[in-house]
Amino acid sequence: MARSKATATHSKATKRGTVKSKRDADTNGNLDDGRKAGEWGRAWDIDVFSIVSVITLLTTCPLMVFYFHVACTHYDCALSSPILGLFKGDITLTDFFNQLPPVTLDGFQIVLPWVAFQVFLYYVPDLLHYVLPGYVGGICPGAITPSGVQLQYQVNGLQAWAISNGLFLANGLYFNWFPSTIIFDHWGEMLWVANILGYVVAIFVFIKAYNFPSGAKDCKFSNNIFYDFMMGIEFNPRIGKWFDFKLFFNGRPGIAAWTIINMSYAFYQYHTYGYVTNSMWIVNILHAMYVVDFFWNEAWYLNTIDIHHDHFGWYLAWGDCVWLPWMYTLQGFYLAYKPVDLPQPVALGIMALGLAGYFIFRAVNHQKDYFRRTNGEGLIWGKKPEYLEARYYSGDGKQRKSKLLLSGWWGVTRHMNYTGDLMGCCAYCLACGFDHILPYFYLVFMFILLTHRCIRDEHRCKAKYGKVWDEYTSRVPHRLIPGVF
Ligand code: NDP
Repeated sequence: MARSKATATHSKATKRGTVKSKRDADTNGNLDDGRKAGEWGRAWDIDVFSIVSVITLLTTCPLMVFYFHVACTHYDCALSSPILGLFKGDITLTDFFNQLPPVTLDGFQIVLPWVAFQVFLYYVPDLLHYVLPGYVGGICPGAITPSGVQLQYQVNGLQAWAISNGLFLANGLYFNWFPSTIIFDHWGEMLWVANILGYVVAIFVFIKAYNFPSGAKDCKFSNNIFYDFMMGIEFNPRIGKWFDFKLFFNGRPGIAAWTIINMSYAFYQYHTYGYVTNSMWIVNILHAMYVVDFFWNEAWYLNTIDIHHDHFGWYLAWGDCVWLPWMYTLQGFYLAYKPVDLPQPVALGIMALGLAGYFIFRAVNHQKDYFRRTNGEGLIWGKKPEYLEARYYSGDGKQRKSKLLLSGWWGVTRHMNYTGDLMGCCAYCLACGFDHILPYFYLVFMFILLTHRCIRDEHRCKAKYGKVWDEYTSRVPHRLIPGVF
């Protein structure tokens, strides 16, 4: 029964694909509905709302990170205190600016060697895929870009993560070459350097896109300079054959540092209070699972939205250098200042929520990957999957095929992977208790990020797949929560 339904769906969609195939691209790559072939990447024409949003984000995000830092270091982690103090006149703006962390040589001496070390590790050929069964590393192909190019990547993030994190842990537990709390001790000073780095990288790729782009056909210029600066012009900026800005900055230095930053907070707790709280353990363990999962699946990651669809601009450059390391590790930072001892049943419940979220997140991502790799032939939840056959055009005017899965998790909602991710975020925040709202900012942020991402992605999928996408959304009507949203 399931099989015949699947075949029916498949053949119906194929017919639709045949109808669509009449909509061929002309020699200039123009489609008969006015769009250009491959015109399914990021936006071209920017409305006033987008420009206002972009300028707001460019100006407020860096301030926000500093604000959070000051709230923890000077206001007992009470997020509203600095702003209320300013409104009530208890403090002046000058007082607030005096509370910002200082710019010091130490900040540069920690961040710059760390980035240099990551660049070095980025060039060390991967050995782990020879010894770890099931791990995919070494030279791997990326996805096909809108202009029809397929790049090769050197996938060795797991190795870089293991070496960097192993050295940090060995230092903290045994060697003592440098203080294990070094990151906690200099976190504010490092924030300045990371900001400088994020802006330098964003400005560099912006200039590069105009003067020496790596893939000119995949560059996208909108009608607005702020939008281009923020969302990026080049799709895959590179230096030489292998240094890929997107892969490097997305994974290293930010994500590889994530677990090291958390460890530094745990060491701080240990040295200050004599033990590490169960809440700190939970945050460290759940974050570490997420990070290791990311590096274990780095080859798969080449097909996610960040690498496959986003252009490289300030959003990724600054986001990877500053936002991710500072805002994604807020719970550990908070717990270093405000240790929370959770009753054991509560700790177990939170851990169970985090693990369930992780399980869903991984299972959904794996299911799509498996479905695409087996070209729809592999079993999903023990049955032959239902899917829609879709066609689209790349910028070279070629018609290509794709499949949209209707079975398994992808038939429950259109983005159950985001739902699992959000359950994990909920667990990290709950581990911090309810005394302060500050650690919960992460959950609010992730909710906005992932719902916005959902909408952005669906807009792109609609442009790419047309009516077949409409059919998918009518068959699977909800985005994140079955029956609700
Ligand atoms: P997805 O992995 O969900 O990929 C979306 C893409 O999948 C679509 O663009 C489309 O691409 C394809 N697709 C959509 N529907 C179907 C379907 N039914 N069948 C087959 N393919 C389909 O999104 P992301 O890349 O955003 O996320 C990857 C993971 O990373 C998620 O688990 C997410 O939670 C996580 N993430 C975490 C972030 C963080 O900051 N912690 C930030 C962003 C993501 P195509 O063009 O190939 O058809």
